[in-house]
Amino acid sequence: MTTRRTFIRSSALASAAFLAHTPESFSSESKMMNTNAAGKPIVLSTWNFGIKANEAAWSVLSSGGKALDAVEAGVKIPEGDPKERSVGYGGRPDRDGRVTLDACIMDEHANIGSVACLEYIKHPISVARAVMEKTPHVMLVGDGALQFALSQGFVKENLLVEESEKEWKEWLKESKYAPVVNIEHHDTIGMIAMDMNGDLSGACTTSGMAYKMHGRVGDSPIIGAGLYVDNEVGAATATGHGEEVIRIAGCYLVVELMRQGRTPEQACKEAVERVVRLTANRKKNLKDIQVGFIALNKRGEYGAYCVQSGFNYAVRTADGSRLLDSGFAIQ
Ligand code: ASP
Repeated sequence: MTTRRTFIRSSALASAAFLAHTPESFSSESKMMNTNAAGKPIVLSTWNFGIKANEAAWSVLSSGGKALDAVEAGVKIPEGDPKERSVGYGGRPDRDGRVTLDACIMDEHANIGSVACLEYIKHPISVARAVMEKTPHVMLVGDGALQFALSQGFVKENLLVEESEKEWKEWLKESKYAPVVNIEHHDTIGMIAMDMNGDLSGACTTSGMAYKMHGRVGDSPIIGAGLYVDNEVGAATATGHGEEVIRIAGCYLVVELMRQGRTPEQACKEAVERVVRLTANRKKNLKDIQVGFIALNKRGEYGAYCVQSGFNYAVRTADGSRLLDSGFAIQ
């Protein structure tokens, strides 16, 4: 599997034509504007596992399905893949060896659903959707989320795969909690899509920071932090250090900046600059932080920005699939 550490840097921007099913990587130069020339629909998602996830979403979108169904189907791919060690089944555990999952979903009507610190359920995104559709609430956590999932027919499974358990036992020897930027310890799939009807939805799901304290919740299940959708304006989702994303209400901020006229990439950049500023104010080291945003507006324009180079995102339209490098604040 290609990891994002091995992503190809190419400067093939000039030939920006999409190649069907051929992921391409582009230079990290900030273009400030990417447009979907192929028109609706479109789906984008974080990191290179987004390529496969986008294909699942695309089969829903290209047959006229709803963005909501597309994003759920899309993020279920890495959730169900034990080799993806930062999302769903196979995710790295917390410091007590427990795999705890966070997820949220939002549709074009501002319907929202979310679960946090959910254990034993392979597809937290579907539980989040059930919270949205079948309860009077918007968020369930921990044991309450699990009990609800079981009542809805979700199956209780062991999510800790052998490889993750082995690594965790190795980690226990030193028990040093040091989330490292841009390695597999903290990846989220965030996916945002526009369907043929022009409606937007988004989904975000993760096992969160590896070896986090039990009970720690990141940005990914928090509407406005890890995900936000406004069907009049656009959608955004985030990855990286959840604490930093929550601190600036990241995805809500990105959508509001687009409302004020910023392009998706400008909006992501401004949100990242706020992370940079607050980090300096708090006298923390920016080198220890990664935050990445992707955004899509109502016109089908999209973009991304991150703190440190190394973040990429996948885009799927009728013209094909590609993997793009995000612009970044520091090398
Ligand atoms: N944002 C996630 C969290 O803080 C992790 C990640 O995207 O890497 O839990």
